[in-house]
Amino acid sequence: MQDGHCPRCESETVYVDRTAHYSGLGPLQVDFWHVAPLVPYVCTTCGYVACFVERAESRTEIAEKWKHVPPGGKKS
Ligand SMILES: [Zn+2]
Repeated sequence: MQDGHCPRCESETVYVDRTAHYSGLGPLQVDFWHVAPLVPYVCTTCGYVACFVERAESRTEIAEKWKHVPPGGKKS
């Protein structure tokens, strides 16, 4: 999605709003003190939406505080 290519319909009509102030998406609450901004990408052909935590520090915080999902782990 971030490469401008929709993974669902394979169109190249992907748009992003990095300000995300009016996208209707709140930031992701990592823990009590930290939030991670979500950057939404929308495919205007099929409507597929994908959100990414683009800030590297936020991804580090999530990796430190959230439970890792092991590959092949049981579904919950
Ligand atoms: Zn699409």
